[in-house]
Amino acid sequence: MTELQVQEDVSLRDLTTLKIGGIARYFFSVGNEQELASAFRFAREKALPVVALGGGSNVLVSDGRINAVVVRIAIRGIKWMEGEDILKFRNSDILKSQNLKISKSQNPTILPSHDLSIPKSQNVVFVIAGAGEQWDQLVAEAVRRGLWGIENLSGIPGSVGAAPVQNIGAYGAEIKDTLEWVEVFDSESGEVRRIASADCGFEYRDSVFKSPENKKLIIIRVAFLLKRNGTPNLAYRDLKQIFNDQFDALKHIYPALPGFPLSHSGHSGAFVDSDRVKIPLAWILDNLCGLKGFRKGNVALFERQPIVVVNLGGASAEEVRAFTEEVARIVKDATGITVEYEVQFFF
Ligand SMILES: Cc1cc2nc3c(=O)[nH]c(=O)nc-3n(C[C@H](O)[C@H](O)[C@H](O)COP(=O)(O)OP(=O)(O)OC[C@H]3O[C@@H](n4cnc5c(N)ncnc54)[C@H](O)[C@@H]3O)c2cc1C
Repeated sequence: MTELQVQEDVSLRDLTTLKIGGIARYFFSVGNEQELASAFRFAREKALPVVALGGGSNVLVSDGRINAVVVRIAIRGIKWMEGEDILKFRNSDILKSQNLKISKSQNPTILPSHDLSIPKSQNVVFVIAGAGEQWDQLVAEAVRRGLWGIENLSGIPGSVGAAPVQNIGAYGAEIKDTLEWVEVFDSESGEVRRIASADCGFEYRDSVFKSPENKKLIIIRVAFLLKRNGTPNLAYRDLKQIFNDQFDALKHIYPALPGFPLSHSGHSGAFVDSDRVKIPLAWILDNLCGLKGFRKGNVALFERQPIVVVNLGGASAEEVRAFTEEVARIVKDATGITVEYEVQFFF
């Protein structure tokens, strides 16, 4: 086994979809939990914080020097199991680890929890994916195998490991709908543990993994239960219009953009509930705030989907931050609605 190599002074710019970011003092790309543990030991020796990085599609990294150990989670591998194999696998050593219950409180209690309940039905497939796999490739492979449950989440950029962090969602579906458990490396205790879906605190674009006290938990694998005989989830209004009975992944409207979406508190699909109707944030930006095509320097709201903030080329993190704050202020003044950022700010 080759020894894990640390890299020094690594530019994070090209590791983010925004193409913005300064220089990380130390950088590791880890392919398994042993390497992850080594990276944390290294950080402890240097007395520096660790920051986990997946596909870099939901982070705004500051422009300056980042005095931390940035660890890219590159743990690969996908297992597809069905029938008796699910039960066999369930009984194997890898599934014997203790489950973990955590809360969003300041001092999360860690308790043995849930039994992992996997239905014996022949019509389900149990999938375990490494955190470093690309989310959209997992969806595409599930669809290719004729499996249902995550197809509405097609096209969302990023890694499998980051997907539970904000309970990714689109078109009336969320990752929590099919997620069975999350396997984490607890960097404080050095243990690998399983957290059952019910204990992940999933809410709209939120989970226990977002809270600062749980940043010690690095997601290394995620398990899903998918169905063989599913039906299309057409809860989202536009899907009813565009669905044409073809069995294929539902294509996401965001192209591969150097940008990130805005949202506002607690409303799925960037909608605001009023007494009678749901109003899309995109519509509010265009029609109530006059922000269609809003641009400042190298930062703009994307013409075709105004909830997406894009770097037109050469923008700094500070420019993006100032731009999003200005958009939020204009929306607040015009409507009283608070715009929230799903994007995570690094330093
Ligand atoms: C154009 C565009 C469209 C998008 N559309 C949607 C959408 O429709 N729905 C939606 O929900 N999201 C959407 N997103 C947001 C983004 O795709 C998701 O949040 C995605 O899950 C981020 O994955 P990532 O690997 O790029 O995470 P990163 O950006 O690398 O990291 C995001 C956060 O997760 C943490 N993290 C990363 N990996 C791990 C790990 N293994 N363990 C613990 N913490 C970790 C990081 O420290 C950071 O805080 C969109 C983003 C873009 C740019």
